[in-house]
Amino acid sequence: MSTQASATAVEEIHILWTSEGMSCDGDTVSVTAASLPSIEDVVLSAVPGIPKVHLHNKVLAYETGEDFLRPFFQAANGELGAPFIFVVEGSIPNENIHSDPDGFWTAMGNDPETGKPKTLNRWIDELAPKAWAVVAIGTCAAYGGIHAMAGNPTGCMGLVDYLGEDFRSAGGLPVINVPGCPVQPDNFMETLLWVLHQAAGLAPTIPLDDQLRPQWLFGKTVHEGCDRAAYYEQADFARDYNSPKCQVKIGCWGPVVNCNVTKRGWMDGVGGCPNVGGVCIGCTMPGFPDKFMPFMDEPPGGSLSSALLSVYGPFVRTMRSITNKTVNTEPKWRHPGEKLTTGYQPRYPRA
Ligand code: SF4
Ligand code: SF4
Ligand code: SF4
Repeated sequence: MSTQASATAVEEIHILWTSEGMSCDGDTVSVTAASLPSIEDVVLSAVPGIPKVHLHNKVLAYETGEDFLRPFFQAANGELGAPFIFVVEGSIPNENIHSDPDGFWTAMGNDPETGKPKTLNRWIDELAPKAWAVVAIGTCAAYGGIHAMAGNPTGCMGLVDYLGEDFRSAGGLPVINVPGCPVQPDNFMETLLWVLHQAAGLAPTIPLDDQLRPQWLFGKTVHEGCDRAAYYEQADFARDYNSPKCQVKIGCWGPVVNCNVTKRGWMDGVGGCPNVGGVCIGCTMPGFPDKFMPFMDEPPGGSLSSALLSVYGPFVRTMRSITNKTVNTEPKWRHPGEKLTTGYQPRYPRA
């Protein structure tokens, strides 16, 4: 996707991060495990070139109550004094569907004029257009996620559903989606780092795919990076969760899911669902969770592709096993006998 961003270099920036969407705070918790870079690296200016960052996240903040909320109100009033990145965690409920006019699904702080809870919807209405960039962290904020599944009473949706596809931030960017339930820690921090470098005038416009995800993070499937892919190719399938083999028959959706955790791991390169025994349930995807349920059943396309593989997989496996035995044996001429049996042909006969 091609977008045009502001060319003005930013020297100081706030990150206003709300997890008051329909959320479990799991993305905030996940990001505390990031190391490429870590949150500490960013807020302590250990990364060269980025603006000075002021982070406002309720789980990580030292301030509470009015003190914590002050920069949010200042930003909404255009009085923050520096640009800000608006990070939204959790899905966005529909506040227009109450039967009780005083009711609300989710709010953050009170409106000083009315004394009533200030809904997340109002915060988004006021902050998103003023933000240099708007980032949806986690699948709930990106696409609706678990809270937006069929049968939910809140009319939940993702941030783009709420703001509209034509939304552009003050920095000229659409909503940037970093999905995952929760988000992979370094995926979020790497995205944030790109946005910070872009704001500083040191990076081009962040490349996003048609689902507004960073292209370099979500361009490949789980299957393409999976430690178990060789088992799949040989039609060697796990029948229970204790097996190290391919898990497609016990519920893995990896072949059709855009996610990099099998390559990247989860913390410091370790983990990544199928690599460590968890079937992929498609948690990064716009169709999650409804289109992947029931979890742990064989995906509909899985039975077809595994049936096709079973035609040649066992044959290939047998042939490879024979070749493997052959190459596990040293060539026969390596011995201490009196004759040279390597097949060496001297150019000139010995005298
Ligand atoms: Fe929690 Fe998952 Fe939603 Fe993040 S995406 S808020 S981890 S339910
Ligand atoms: Fe593909 Fe899943 Fe099998 Fe890994 S476990 S090879 S992602 S189907
Ligand atoms: Fe989610 Fe699948 Fe990626 Fe695991 S491998 S994080 S379940 S999309």
